[in-house]
Amino acid sequence: MKSTLQPAYIIIGENMKEKTFKKAVYIVLFILIVIFFTKDCDFFFGFYKNIRQITNPDDILVLVNKNNKLSEDYIPKDLEAIDINYAMEEKYVRKEVKSAFEALAKKAKEEGYQIVAVSAFRSYSYQDELYHSYVKTSGKAYADRCSARPGHSEHQTGLAIDVMGENQDYNKFAETKEFQWMLKHAHEYGFILRYPEKFEDVTGFKYEPWHYRYVGIDAAKKIKEKNTCLELYLHEHLFSLA
Ligand SMILES: [Zn+2]
Repeated sequence: MKSTLQPAYIIIGENMKEKTFKKAVYIVLFILIVIFFTKDCDFFFGFYKNIRQITNPDDILVLVNKNNKLSEDYIPKDLEAIDINYAMEEKYVRKEVKSAFEALAKKAKEEGYQIVAVSAFRSYSYQDELYHSYVKTSGKAYADRCSARPGHSEHQTGLAIDVMGENQDYNKFAETKEFQWMLKHAHEYGFILRYPEKFEDVTGFKYEPWHYRYVGIDAAKKIKEKNTCLELYLHEHLFSLA
């Protein structure tokens, strides 16, 4: 039996030409499809897009971020445990980083500051677990802001250390006198504050007062002098070499 019901658009379109209405429907559908497929992307900043596979993972100045990925099986060959006096438990970093960090922590201790490593080398699989636990508990958008996807964490390089101070809470490291000490002295030992507050849009990560990256004394001093971040420093550095 033929239905006498008229399609909805004819009723709505009493004062609107059918063609115009259809066009509007297509535009709305198109927008909804775009939103659906980009809702999990950092659409405006291009993070996790055009990802480059890292070819110099052993380089002290290696750039690991949301656009530069380490291979799944990369593990530095010269990992060594940090002296337990300066680490919460067994924490591994590359040999050069170990001596630099121990010298830093020793000097700080002599001056009355307690700087302790709480996280250092993390394997691809461990990062995978960590990232997905954030996704599970707080959603993908939050996870992407405060945790790196596997292969995109510089903890996998053995060049990064998260630290805590006298309050024993790395999340509140910014409130400690140790943080002030690090701001003044970290570069003297080759470390930089990797995710400064004012460069969140460049690094792609939220401000992390506890996360330090070893880049060697020369680069650390220049980055501190220029008040810049690793991404911008390397960009300028490569440009000046060209
Ligand atoms: Zn970290």
